[in-house]
Amino acid sequence: MVRGTVQGVGFRPFVYRHATGHGLAGWVRNTGEGVELEVEGERAALDAFVETLIGHPPPLARIEEVRATPSVPTGGAGFQVLNSRTGANEAEGGAMAEGGAGGAAAEALPVGPDAATCTACLGELRDPEDRRHRYPFINCTDCGPRFTIIRGLPYDRARTTMAAFELCDACRMEYNDPGDRRFHAEPVACPDCGPRMEWIGTGGGPGAGVDPISSAAAVLRAGGIIALKGLGGYQLACDAGDPGAVARLRQRKQRDAKPFAIMLPDLETARLLCRISEAEAAALTGARAPVVLVQRRSGAWEEYAGAVARDGYGSRRVAREVAPGLDTVGVMLPYTPLHHRLMESVGRPLVMTSGNRSGEPIAAGDQEALDRLGGIADGFLRHDREIASRYDDSVVRVDDRGDAMVLRRARGYAPEPIRLPLAAERPILAVGAQLKAAFCLVRGRQAFPSQHIGDLDDARTAVHFMETAALYRDLFRAEPACVAHDLHPDYVSTRYAEGFPEGVRRIGVQHHHAHAVSCLAEHGRLGPALGVCFDGAGYGPDGTIWGGELLLVDWHGYRRLSHLRHLAMPGGDAAAREPWRMAVAALVETFGSEADIVAAGLLRRIEARRRGPVLNMARRRVHAPLTSSAGRLFDAVAALVGIRDRNHYEGQAAMELEALVDTAEQGAYPLPLGDDGVWDSSTLVAAAVDDLTDGLDTGRVAARFHNGLAAGVAEACRRAREETGAGVVALSGGCFQNRRLSERSRSLLEADGFEVLTHRRVPANDGGIAFGQAAVAVAAQCDAGEEV
Ligand code: ZN
Ligand code: ZN
Ligand code: FE
Repeated sequence: MVRGTVQGVGFRPFVYRHATGHGLAGWVRNTGEGVELEVEGERAALDAFVETLIGHPPPLARIEEVRATPSVPTGGAGFQVLNSRTGANEAEGGAMAEGGAGGAAAEALPVGPDAATCTACLGELRDPEDRRHRYPFINCTDCGPRFTIIRGLPYDRARTTMAAFELCDACRMEYNDPGDRRFHAEPVACPDCGPRMEWIGTGGGPGAGVDPISSAAAVLRAGGIIALKGLGGYQLACDAGDPGAVARLRQRKQRDAKPFAIMLPDLETARLLCRISEAEAAALTGARAPVVLVQRRSGAWEEYAGAVARDGYGSRRVAREVAPGLDTVGVMLPYTPLHHRLMESVGRPLVMTSGNRSGEPIAAGDQEALDRLGGIADGFLRHDREIASRYDDSVVRVDDRGDAMVLRRARGYAPEPIRLPLAAERPILAVGAQLKAAFCLVRGRQAFPSQHIGDLDDARTAVHFMETAALYRDLFRAEPACVAHDLHPDYVSTRYAEGFPEGVRRIGVQHHHAHAVSCLAEHGRLGPALGVCFDGAGYGPDGTIWGGELLLVDWHGYRRLSHLRHLAMPGGDAAAREPWRMAVAALVETFGSEADIVAAGLLRRIEARRRGPVLNMARRRVHAPLTSSAGRLFDAVAALVGIRDRNHYEGQAAMELEALVDTAEQGAYPLPLGDDGVWDSSTLVAAAVDDLTDGLDTGRVAARFHNGLAAGVAEACRRAREETGAGVVALSGGCFQNRRLSERSRSLLEADGFEVLTHRRVPANDGGIAFGQAAVAVAAQCDAGEEV
């Protein structure tokens, strides 16, 4: 018996091929729990078979458990793929009754996420002799769409958006042949029977006889913007080397400065433009094919790429406007046959971004796309396969040890479950936070974190959130008996949780407790541990805004050991958008009555008539909520350094401060920890102000700030270990997406003998909150009866 993501990933043909290859007899079938098989033959052949099964499973399979029991040989010959035990969910072609015998268990089975085009399919796509030559919907059991076409479970063609396309004889033969790579590949298709492309230009209907992909490519080469129907929604694309096109896209999409991801034709091109480690190369070319944040090569891209172009490699320019102010860029490689065809046809790097206006969810329906993207795109490259689930591109970053950390978890990851070390007694829905929203459904030991949904401030995104939550409840047949939510009363997610009927238990989870537990739980840990949670903002039960916390945590609860000294947020939310306000607050906290003078020097660029009222608000703490947020401290220092006074997107000033860091600088500003457990950030700010007044290079100031925070974290953990005995530290919260802070904190802590856990499978930012809430709720269920 093999459990995990083993159905719909070519597991049975894989078993069939290897069993027959080793001369073994027996059978294989899908069951409600996974895949069951029986093999008999020579000892050596059996061992070799098992080794292949465990060591080299099909690329998309995720094996959680293999159980083997010896049995009496039957002396049978040959190997068979049997019908599924629980009602023939695949082999009978969708004839099964829903909720039939064993149905409930079968429906809890994981569904694989969508996977990037495999090498074999890519070979066929480019082979003029192949019947799928240039066909943009080529796929097999090792690759192609999954979750984005599923309407119901169990996973078979009748319950996908491919149901509308009747298989031709040639495709049906492949589909029914256990020796074929396309055996039960549900989205199997070819030019005779599958989906078709269509180009709709601004001029109206499609040009007769013109290849839609070539038409789109021509518009792109001329500096236009196209909307492209991708896997989980429409994408917007333009020539990444054309500053004018990028500027037009920014203006039409209403996205000022937030970096765009780019799609490059292949790894070689990526290596020309960026520094790519082996681990980053593996992430780029793997089946998940996310956007990978990589370091751009120093020097102007334009010039470097210009040299390449003169050498005759074609245009590989990438304009700075793609990711202004940053030294990193999000890169992805083509992950569908359509993207491969388009990249080949255009022959230059493309900006590839979600098809939406800023703040809105990605457009998935054809009419919706025409309505919402009509004012942005100069044409639509689309097809007639419907998208069942909205699904953005995932984003990952690889750290100095080669571990990938997911920053946005969507395509290629969701709805893959994460196995919990404790089982939920009854199903749980955790609804997450407000920004970067995602929810998490738990059934037994399986936690299903949803794909990234977006910021719930937008009404359409809130609807998308509720629809997707309903879909998951349906797909995984889990009616929540318990809803976990943030303590913030005004989060849309909290209000959604309140809307559940009376009988559903509600569990409020403090924001940073959820952050720390999400990090523990993804590593299968229960705690107690130290949780360092640095982020922008989270509701604190004491009436202040938390965000720079050291907690002693386990799944059941937490104790706050340390936090950053409070800063006022003059003007409330305005202070989160305008870092200079936080700089003023930090100066007030550090210099008291002298703050005016320092501000007049370092913040000269802000007019005195704007500075004055903000100074007063900070001093009197009127219309200025208190926060221990590390994100706001980043803002304050970034503004003092002179990076920027206004954030166009969340975390912009902090990201630019990180980009500024002089990595050779080893100095660190002091961040002393008081006996009351408060990190005194004013000492750190005073040291930074001294350096800035002395005219020290800002790259070194930025480095000393990062190093100081990391050293302060390490020192506080050391003291906390003396008090509590906890030797494990979980680093969580959006600030730990910052490479410098995260890597430096970790190496200091490890040098001191701590075991350090960082995020891998769920985001460190608020996208990971739901998963943490879910784990806390599982523990609360275990506590039931002895509730406080
Ligand atoms: Zn394939
Ligand atoms: Zn066909
Ligand atoms: Fe947070």
